[in-house]
Amino acid sequence: MENLERQFQTLVIHHGYDSKEHLGSLSVPIYQTSTFTFDTAEQGEARFAGREEGYVYSRLANPTVRALEEKMACLEGGEAALAFGSGMAAVSAVLIALTKANDHIICSQGVYGCTFGLLQLFKKKFNISHDFCSMQTEEEIDRLIRPETVCIYVETPINPTMKLVDLEMVVKIAKEHGIKVVVDNTFCSPYLQKPLLFGCDVVVHSATKYIGGHGDSVAGIAVGSKEFMKEVAKTTQKDIGCIISPFDAWLLLRGLKTLPVRMDRHCENAETIANLLKEHPLVYKVYYPHDPDKSDYTISQKQMKYGGGLVSFEIKGTKQDVQRFLNRLQLIKIAVSLGDTETLIQHPATMTHAVVPEEVRKNMGISDQLIRLSVGLEAWEDIWQDLNQALSSLSIL
Ligand SMILES: *Cc1c(COP(=O)(O)O)cnc(C)c1O
Repeated sequence: MENLERQFQTLVIHHGYDSKEHLGSLSVPIYQTSTFTFDTAEQGEARFAGREEGYVYSRLANPTVRALEEKMACLEGGEAALAFGSGMAAVSAVLIALTKANDHIICSQGVYGCTFGLLQLFKKKFNISHDFCSMQTEEEIDRLIRPETVCIYVETPINPTMKLVDLEMVVKIAKEHGIKVVVDNTFCSPYLQKPLLFGCDVVVHSATKYIGGHGDSVAGIAVGSKEFMKEVAKTTQKDIGCIISPFDAWLLLRGLKTLPVRMDRHCENAETIANLLKEHPLVYKVYYPHDPDKSDYTISQKQMKYGGGLVSFEIKGTKQDVQRFLNRLQLIKIAVSLGDTETLIQHPATMTHAVVPEEVRKNMGISDQLIRLSVGLEAWEDIWQDLNQALSSLSIL
């Protein structure tokens, strides 16, 4: 099926699967099998030698997983994709494939807590060092580049402060020095942002979040050039083996079909909530991309379709006040993760970023008062009513 000119909303549903090849099954079948039988010994030999296309063993490739990978590659505008058992598996498979001992990584300031942990591990075990960079200007990045720098790792919007990094700017500097750019696109999904189209080399996802979208699966995706992804498939995916199960791949395929519809609603709801929070007397600061009052508004206009489903905010008060506020919520669930149908709220300083040393955390802009809200698909009026009642009960203390 020639899909190239079809629109995103159509591709999420149809790309990468032909029902005619699967007994007419409308939904991608779940190939729940560990291994694949060969017709003859010679065929087995040919498949292992790579002379014949075909499935061998599900750690190497599986038809349900392949359908997901084809779809994700297309949606991100990349040549090839691989699926993993978690977002961190995707991040580590990509970073291990890109680096060797004594290399250097430049990383956006304020990354996902476990990505931070992985960089510490790299340092300790392989002397792969890293520098964090706010990436607000070319000079800041340029100053950190060394002969051993092999990779610039970017999260944008940055978790949980929602600061943006100008991908075009990062790519320009990286290209001048022959450095690869890896972008964690979890917060946006390809519906809102396509880093590869700005010249970035690899996109990684925690597909646990918006790609799956229903809070029922932990998974990861990496997308890049055919050559690089082939290398990852042959090495860090095959030999470390952090693969996704066929059933989880199927859940993501199902989730993907409604990605644009869900994202539209997530973004509308989040923008409405962000604006309401801004007006609340107990809310000190609101962090939301696509905010015309913010200095990075032009970046968001350039690289993001809408502002996304996440809003962070600081309330006036102590850490105990924040916890009291969270405990008073009735509809909104206290949970890490994001991108689910349910609105989720968490306290980065004691939850997602608890592993980050306090001083580093403060430098990332994560105060004890900062709260991150993943705005779900409920009616915004109900989400707001819950936030508002929990905030009001604080003010009468
Ligand atoms: C959740 C998350 C990850 C890690 O993904 P898992 O699926 O939990 O392993 C990485 N990056 C970002 C931005 C995330 O939100």
